Parts: sequence; C-alpha cells; structure tokens
Amino acid sequence: MKEFDYTIIGGGCAGLSLAYELEINNKLSNKTLAIIEPRTEYQRDKTWSFWKTFPHNFEDCVIKSWDSFSINIPNKSKQIECESLPYQSIDSGLFYKKTLNRLKANKNIHFFRNKEDVNTENSYVFNSVPKINSNENDLWQHFGGYEIETDRDIFDDTIINLMDFDCDQKNSVHFFYTLPFSKNKALIETTWLSNMTDPSEKDYDFQIKEYIESVLKIKNYKVIYKEKGQIPLFYPNNSNSKKKINIGTAGKMTRLSTGYTFLNIQEHCKYIVENLNCLKTFNIGKKYEILDKIFLKVLKKNAQRMPNIFFKMFNSSSETSIKFLSNKSNVFQDLSIISKMPKWPFIKALFN
Ligand SMILES: Cc1cc2nc3c(=O)[nH]c(=O)nc-3n(C[C@H](O)[C@H](O)[C@H](O)COP(=O)(O)OP(=O)(O)OC[C@H]3O[C@@H](n4cnc5c(N)ncnc54)[C@H](O)[C@@H]3O)c2cc1C
Repeated sequence: MKEFDYTIIGGGCAGLSLAYELEINNKLSNKTLAIIEPRTEYQRDKTWSFWKTFPHNFEDCVIKSWDSFSINIPNKSKQIECESLPYQSIDSGLFYKKTLNRLKANKNIHFFRNKEDVNTENSYVFNSVPKINSNENDLWQHFGGYEIETDRDIFDDTIINLMDFDCDQKNSVHFFYTLPFSKNKALIETTWLSNMTDPSEKDYDFQIKEYIESVLKIKNYKVIYKEKGQIPLFYPNNSNSKKKINIGTAGKMTRLSTGYTFLNIQEHCKYIVENLNCLKTFNIGKKYEILDKIFLKVLKKNAQRMPNIFFKMFNSSSETSIKFLSNKSNVFQDLSIISKMPKWPFIKALFN
C-alpha cells in the first residue's frame, strides 16, 4: 500500500474542486495526493446553478449566466433583476474535463478506485463520501430534469423561472424550475421538498412531460439530457478529526433551506488551501444553520403555506434576498427577510 501526503476520498464536485485548488496554488509540486474514486468514466450528471456572489475557478464551465429570474405562485408572478449577482449554471461534464485534465498532468497526483490501495495512516484525509442514516422525518430536495431542444425559438433566454409553484403540491412542497440555455434549449426540472415517502412524487418523467406539453405548450421537442437527484436537507453523520476533514455534502456544505452547495464547496476548498498548516473546521455560518432549522420546521408543519412564504422572501430587495439565500447576508438583510415572514408559524417553530 502506498502512502501520500494528502488523500481525497471521492472525486466528485468537492474532491476535484479541492484537488484543483491545491494544484493551481502550487501545493502539489513537492507533496503527493491520492484521489480515491470508484467511477470509471465521467460524464455530465449534474447542472450546478447558483447566484455568483464571489469569483470561482470554473467560469469557463458556465453554460449560461442570467441577470433576472421569476417566481410564480397561483395568480401571482414576480420578476427580479440580479445583474450584480447573476445566476449561473455549470455543466458538470465540462467541470470534470477541466479539473481532470489539469490534475492528470501532475505526476504527484495518483488516482485509485479502492480505499484499500491507499495507506491513509500518516496522510491528511479529505472525505467527500457522506454517511447518511435517514429516517422518515428527514426532508430531501428531490428532483428530475430534462434538457430539451425545440424545433422553433420558444424560450426567452434572458430570464430563468426559479420556482413555479402553480402545480400539484400533494402534501409537500413542489415547484418547476426552468433554465433556458438558448431560445430553443432549456433544462426543466420538477422539484419536491419532502420526506420522499409518497412514491407518486417520484414519477418525474410524467410530471416533466405534462409540464412541457400542458403548461409550456411545447409539442415538438427532443430530450437531449436527463438528470435526477436528491439532496439531503439534513446533515450527514460524518465527523472531523485532526487529520480528517469532511468536504462537500459530507462536510455540511449544503444550505439546508435551499440545497445550494456548489459555491459553498468552492469557498471551503479555498479556506482549506489557505489554512493547510492549521486546519480547522469550516462552516457556512452558524446563524444560517439555526435559521434553516427553524425554516424547515415551519416547512414540515405548513407545507401548503410554503409557496407563499418563498414568494414573500423575494419581497426584500433582490440583493438582500440573494445574499440571504447564498449565506452572504448582513444582520440588516437577515432582519429584512425575517420581517417578511408570517410571524405565527415561525414563533411556534422557534419554541417547539
Ligand atoms: C443532480 C444534482 C444536481 C444538483 N444541482 C445543484 C445546483 O444546481 N446547485 C448547487 O449548489 N448544488 C446542487 N447540487 C448539490 C451539490 O452541489 C452536489 O450534490 C455536489 O455534487 C456535491 O458535491 P460532493 O463532492 O459532496 O458529492 P459528489 O459530487 O456526489 O461526489 C462524491 C463522490 O464520491 C464518490 N464515492 C461514492 N462512494 C465512494 C466510496 N465509497 N469511496 C470513494 N468515493 C466514493 C462518488 O462516485 C462521487 O464521485 C446538486 C446535486 C445533485 C445530485
């Protein structure tokens, strides 16, 4: 078994982002790194989207950036401008290609399929494999999406539809999400926030087709890419130690009220590389952990009120709402969002 200075377990978003950050900051010119990843080939499997609240390393993997977004609830719609904090989508296929091309050129970086081939006893270990023991009280964001191509120009590609709640909610929270990459190409996703116990929520193909054909009124289209996934809206059971740091989902980089993780991963990786000599636990902000916990308690008890609550969140200025949802808000911005929320369900959740 070989020994390395650093070991990254899991070569997905967080593992490759960290390896790339180490590499571009010359931390691997005289140190060795093992990356343990079972997959044999990489293909686009995710579309990572977020409001760009700070610069990141993957601008060249961005499919498209938008300066406005909309949100709909039955009989109401709102359009929000966000030029200074654009919404971006990253093609994971381009991300894997870019990071792997760079990493494979460094002879100090070695790739393994099995943990058993690497002696991690004296290595710094960065783990991105989450330990998940969930039960039926746990909430998930689960979704399925189609990227479609139409034979005519149909979409307004200057604006995304972040949340369209004008759809069957069952007893959960449900919305459609549309990212128009061009006038004839868009990713359309059906997204649920629920404990996933109702199997009918998972009939994503049916829901997307119905939405495309009956709501968007698109008849002629072809599906060019599909994705589906589930993001835990609770923290996995991984714990850090002196020489083992969890990263990505395993490292609590998911914002629990929204599922956004990608930019938090980038921030964590930069932090690790800047503090390699004295690694401490990094978190996205305790206040967000507390606020999200209360928010999710409200969501569990008041699913039917959530479309309205999400809609009201955007009653603050666009900068305030985006910074709050991207964990970059100041206390005045937090108070502005909190003041827009219905008081009673939140007070009950706070004291429950
Ligand atoms: C379909 C999808 C879409 C998403 N879209 C967004 C988005 O738009 N915006 C956003 O901010 N977040 C999004 N997320 C959430 C989050 O950004 C991603 O889940 C992101 O990939 C998390 O990175 P990660 O490295 O923690 O996990 P992953 O990227 O899943 O990487 C974990 C890696 O570990 C490997 N692995 C598994 N088991 C082992 C093992 N035993 N040993 C070694 N390796 C192992 C896996 O093969 C994988 O490569 C999305 C998630 C999904 C699933």
